[in-house]
Amino acid sequence: MFNALVVEKNEEGKTSASVQQVALDALPAGDVTVAVEYSTVNYKDGLCIGPGGGLVRNYSHVPGIDFAGTVEASDDPRYNVGDKVVLTGWRVGEAYWGGYSQKARVKADWLVPLPSGLDTRQAMAVGTAGFTAMLAVMALEDHGIKDGPVLVTGAAGGVGSVATAILAHLGHQVAAVTGRPETADYLTSLGATQIVAREELNETTKRPLEAETWGGCVDAVGGEMLARILGQMKYGASVSAVGLAGGAGLPATVIPFLLRGVNLLGIDSVMQPYANRLRAWERIAKDLPMDKLEAMIVPATLSDLPKLGADILKGQVQGRVVVDVNA
Ligand code: NDP
Repeated sequence: MFNALVVEKNEEGKTSASVQQVALDALPAGDVTVAVEYSTVNYKDGLCIGPGGGLVRNYSHVPGIDFAGTVEASDDPRYNVGDKVVLTGWRVGEAYWGGYSQKARVKADWLVPLPSGLDTRQAMAVGTAGFTAMLAVMALEDHGIKDGPVLVTGAAGGVGSVATAILAHLGHQVAAVTGRPETADYLTSLGATQIVAREELNETTKRPLEAETWGGCVDAVGGEMLARILGQMKYGASVSAVGLAGGAGLPATVIPFLLRGVNLLGIDSVMQPYANRLRAWERIAKDLPMDKLEAMIVPATLSDLPKLGADILKGQVQGRVVVDVNA
């Protein structure tokens, strides 16, 4: 038996989450069984700990869209007992049982060997949010980052914090957009050179183009803010669209694309092929300073998760929550 956060749904359709003892036989089918060490709290986890937001396929459910740990049993020649591994994506924690558990069983194809230079705790301090931030930065690089500050929205959140630290480490000026002015010192410590108040970009304007300001953008917010940002990008600059913390709509015009050659790049961390995942994790180990990663960590245990899940949906979590599933 082992401990896991189990979400159940009653006959009225109401969900509840609690730490329970689970038998090894209850784990889903898979090639590799992992003794999980750490998991994290992402926006999707908030949905899955609560009513599910349409993501969870079956109840009882164990959420946790990412984890890092040690291989305990393997039917796949690529993984041996004792190997350290990381998992993000592939609908683990949504359609399949996830990382809020001391054991997980998954397909070998979904795993990545822990990159050298990271331990399992650091890998989960990065987690899905940080992995996505790296993918977003790599997409900007592929399309060319222009002169001028790179804008990061939702900066005090998980994706935003890691994107800020990576971009600053790579030598870019980073303008961090936040709705929480009290996080200014934190964002500056991660390397932000400019703090932009969320309200400045939330004001709507009828002008489809404004002064060319940003050399690139990692956007975790979407909605009206993204529409406004498109009109402020430098000629030929790119926006990596990562999230929708501020809304799924996009009330934009085509003008920034037609008259400024702006690129809107969609970033999906869930279905990334193995080679891309490996490349991104290797870049993380190289380009994310570990002292800045430490500064982002909020430690947690399985029993803290119901509250943290609600907090992240309200945009109230700062940095990266690292869940020690054995604590
Ligand atoms: P967090 O909750 O940690 O961060 C989101 C941040 O957005 C908040 O901290 C807040 O930052 C800001 N924010 C929240 N609500 C609003 C609002 N109404 N208007 C403007 N800003 C707001 O989440 P994550 O960083 O983990 O994820 C961010 C987004 O990225 C989510 O939508 C998530 O689903 C998505 N995501 C997508 C992935 C992909 O593969 N494409 C993978 C991982 C995440 P501040 O207080 O600084 O303003």
